[in-house]
Amino acid sequence: MINVAVIGLGIMGLPMAINLVKAGHNVIGFNRSPARIDQLIAAGGIGAANIAEAVRDAHVVITMLPDSPDVEDVVGGPDGVFANTPAGASWIDTSTIRPDVTVRLANAARDAGLKAVDAPVSGGEAGAIEGTLSIMVGGDAADVEAVRGVLDAVGSTVVHVGPAGSGQTVKAANQLIVAGTIQLVAEALVFLEAHSVDTAAAVKVLAGGLAGNRILDRKAASMVARRFEPGFRVDLHHKDLGIVTAAARAAGVSIPLGAMVAQLMGALRAEGHGSLDHSALLLLVEQMSGR
Ligand code: NAD
Repeated sequence: MINVAVIGLGIMGLPMAINLVKAGHNVIGFNRSPARIDQLIAAGGIGAANIAEAVRDAHVVITMLPDSPDVEDVVGGPDGVFANTPAGASWIDTSTIRPDVTVRLANAARDAGLKAVDAPVSGGEAGAIEGTLSIMVGGDAADVEAVRGVLDAVGSTVVHVGPAGSGQTVKAANQLIVAGTIQLVAEALVFLEAHSVDTAAAVKVLAGGLAGNRILDRKAASMVARRFEPGFRVDLHHKDLGIVTAAARAAGVSIPLGAMVAQLMGALRAEGHGSLDHSALLLLVEQMSGR
């Protein structure tokens, strides 16, 4: 049993923290909105009044926050993670942020005497609740091994992909594939509906062939029902497509379909749908089809 601090108890962080409680760890959590802390306490965790209190006895600190500036705020400064976590402890950032920011923060963590691992996740809220996340891990091999038990408690596919920042690069590629897949599934569903095909039957047979994918398996039914409660918010996927387009540009790689879906996600957000699930891309397809 170790002490694990979790900062950021949102859609992903709370169920991950609860799975760490179930794995037998002492889990102490902090979140900006306190109602989420109460939910952790109800599940057997401990609540902290601030970041410093959450991390002061931690063996491992997990951050699960929306974006790069949020992570920078939480780890930096006299009240932040780096200044208040005991030397020798590990910091795992499971947020999806810019790879270049990750590299800079990993160096700062090491300067503060901490082990640093970037471990963004895929699998959505369902994967977080089930403890079946796919976790792409960047960092020094020894630092990754030090936290493998913690990662295994929240994920079922945990792969060390390279040095600091590599986890974020792989996650950016993941977000490119997911966004493009959602867009194509949305186009297929609107196409099927326009031909008055039974979409449930169509999805069943499509899922069994080469077109099969997790979006069809997990999201097609709610897309057909026009249920877009998140899940994964449009705002966050828009952020991720910004990360992947900037990183692709920096590397001189063309991602034409990725750039297009980034534009579409931005349009959905501009229409006021930033808080919906990313599968709401279907709304744009409908609109562009005059339906
Ligand atoms: P979320 O907005 O539900 O949760 C973020 C939490 O962080 C919120 O509860 C918020 O109150 C808290 N927070 C923000 N700033 C804080 C601060 N300064 N101090 C303390 N708490 C703070 O977001 P989420 O959906 O859980 O996503 C978190 C990260 O995981 C993002 O980087 C996202 O891209 C990534 N992600 C999300 C999903 C998903 O399906 N939702 C899947 C994989 C990865």
